[in-house]
Amino acid sequence: MKKEKEKKEKKKKLPLGRTVSNNLFALKAIFAASPIYLLVYLGSSFIYGTVEFLSEGYLLRMIVNGIEGGRSVESIVLFVVILATVSLTSFTALSWFWNVISPIEQRKVGAHIEKMLFSKAAKVELACYEDPVFYDKYVKAMDEAYDRILKVMYTLDDLIARFIALFANSLLLFVIDPVLILFGLFPLVLGVFRRLENIASHDLESEKKQVNRRAEYVKRTFYLGEYAKEMRSGGMYGNMLRDLRATFEEYKKITKKYGLKKAIYGYIQRFGLEVVTILGATLYSVWSTMVIGSENGGMSVGDCIVVIGSIGTISYCLNNLVQNFAEFGEHALFLEDVRYFLDYEIKLVGGERMAPTESVELEVRGLSFRYGNSEKDTLHDVNFTLHKGERIALVGSNGSGKTTLVKLLLRLYDASEGEILMDGVNVKEYDLKGYRDCFGTVFQDFKMFSLSVKDNVLLRPSVEGDAQRVRDALVESGAYGRVERMEKGIDTILTREFDDKGENLSIGEQQKLSLARVFADRTPFILLDEPSSALDPIAEYKMFENMMRATEGRSVIFISHRLSSAVLADRVLLMDDGTVAECGTHSELLAKNGMYADMFRRQAENYLGSEVSVNG
Ligand code: ADP
Repeated sequence: MKKEKEKKEKKKKLPLGRTVSNNLFALKAIFAASPIYLLVYLGSSFIYGTVEFLSEGYLLRMIVNGIEGGRSVESIVLFVVILATVSLTSFTALSWFWNVISPIEQRKVGAHIEKMLFSKAAKVELACYEDPVFYDKYVKAMDEAYDRILKVMYTLDDLIARFIALFANSLLLFVIDPVLILFGLFPLVLGVFRRLENIASHDLESEKKQVNRRAEYVKRTFYLGEYAKEMRSGGMYGNMLRDLRATFEEYKKITKKYGLKKAIYGYIQRFGLEVVTILGATLYSVWSTMVIGSENGGMSVGDCIVVIGSIGTISYCLNNLVQNFAEFGEHALFLEDVRYFLDYEIKLVGGERMAPTESVELEVRGLSFRYGNSEKDTLHDVNFTLHKGERIALVGSNGSGKTTLVKLLLRLYDASEGEILMDGVNVKEYDLKGYRDCFGTVFQDFKMFSLSVKDNVLLRPSVEGDAQRVRDALVESGAYGRVERMEKGIDTILTREFDDKGENLSIGEQQKLSLARVFADRTPFILLDEPSSALDPIAEYKMFENMMRATEGRSVIFISHRLSSAVLADRVLLMDDGTVAECGTHSELLAKNGMYADMFRRQAENYLGSEVSVNG
């Protein structure tokens, strides 16, 4: 039902105003990036169109009528020489432009469009990634924008050239016999079929894109290293091949569905053009020349030849113009997605206030939160205060809302209810970038980039003195031993995807490296989401010891599934079903003998054997 509705919306033609506006948007984007590229591109169509007319229809008529009327050969030769000189000069200049200037200018346009898109993409809220309609438009915008924007210019370029040829040839036919214009205008009637064909093409492309996305995903599972192990175990290979076959079947179904429609609409247009227009005008001209004769007001032989030559050009141009307008409609539809994305108003914005540069109190008051695609609250009435310089261990079973709380603290999402106060001020009042920069964060699903170790630690452009800072941070996180052995040290590129001398790190090594991120810059707050999940117990113990030392004076919240590390924290916060169930020091919570004490004992038993009892 929803799909049907979306499809109807897609088929809806955009209002004329919006169609014009979307196409103008594309031209403005090109002009902003490179005015010379746009102007020369369109100017060249004007030159090509004029030269084409003068060297075809007009020249032919001049020669035939000149022969019939006894015109001097010199005047014809002079015309040809002038025409050849003009064409040669302009074509040489344009050829130089296309081959030397144009590729650079075109890249400038690409860079301009990428900048527009990327700067928006960096700001859209995480929630947008969970909204399938938005995400679909987002992916299409990223995929299509560059090509579509250029296509608007190509269509306009074609339109100018065809319009000049149409105008000049129509004038010529009108002078010969006004009735001929009727034949020339017939392709306009065929425009409706052209429009239907374009709608079918657009729907075909849109549906294909969704199938292709699934197919692309399957392909990725075959070549990306991160899937390699699972793909070799059990029957995953077969599952993925089954999915690939399913996408192929879907592809076939879609192609058949729209292919037939496209074939019928295309056939009607071809028939109308070839039979009605070209054959009709030819028969009319032959009848006028041979049956009526030029002495009785009919056409001369010269005019008849010109008509036969020009009517094809006129029909072709008209047909093309109709096609051009239909293309503008199609471009506008695709650009609607691009503009939707670019015009999307970011709701999660910051204020004017400068964020603190030193550790201050952070208070979470009555915080509730629900994901856009979820039917129940993930967090419910969460309350706690992180005091200046305090380290809190956030513990709780899987799905209890720990990571979500961290994401809210970072303002990757805003709460549905309640507020977060930093130094007594609602965090929404702080400048967003400045506020986020207050936190050094390591996520559970951290990512490494195919860049140098240094870039991966800093996660920002480096400045003077950063090399030492990165080395020190790596020492703190326990990753320096590994980096030191690399040929280029902290300048080594991670992964071998783009560099033969690159290094692949194990998950544990990657985790240590990602942890160095919080040691490199002295942010007032640190948020660690299971920073030790891939480390062995000894490495984990060392890591926590280092962390406690290196984060002196900074406020820390760390999520840990091993409660032995919670012992090191000043306070423990136990989350259960989206709310804070218990809060206190490790000893207080053990004494309370509640959920935390129970979890702690069970973990200790697992590590040490069931006969060991834990007394806090
Ligand atoms: P924890 O970190 O304690 O394991 P999470 O905060 O990751 O818990 O998840 C809490 C709940 O929120 C889980 O039920 C999870 O499925 C759900 N959840 C997490 N991320 C999303 C999301 N992006 N969209 C919808 N639900 C989510």
